[in-house]
Amino acid sequence: MSYEVEKPDEQWRAELTPAEYQVLRQAGTEPAFRGEYTDTKTKGVYSCRACGAELFTSNEKFESHCGWPSFFDPKDSSAVELIEDRSHGMLRTEVRCSRCGSHLGHVFEGEGYPTPTDQRYCINSISLRLEPQEN
Ligand SMILES: [Zn+2]
Repeated sequence: MSYEVEKPDEQWRAELTPAEYQVLRQAGTEPAFRGEYTDTKTKGVYSCRACGAELFTSNEKFESHCGWPSFFDPKDSSAVELIEDRSHGMLRTEVRCSRCGSHLGHVFEGEGYPTPTDQRYCINSISLRLEPQEN
């Protein structure tokens, strides 16, 4: 697998905080209800904290009450990459940044949320950086 943005592990370690590195580069999960964007309603674009690619927007963010920022769709379908994840004895779909391969979270579907896609992109706040919309 090759990505547009690739860096040696040592460089990721140097550029990211230990907490960012643990989630983005080691597929960790931040604690529920602790992330800075869980309940954020600010209008804007959410970019990858590792490489800056635009991933999600406030237009697709919804209140899932699950403890992590939730989106019903990415900004563009090519912005994220979906990968089968069989870790922790579960079958889940991992969501990665398609530009740098960093871990963002997981996507779930068919949960019955009243959104256009019935999907929930459950994303770690620490994987994102919100650029608030001007105006
Ligand atoms: Zn990225």
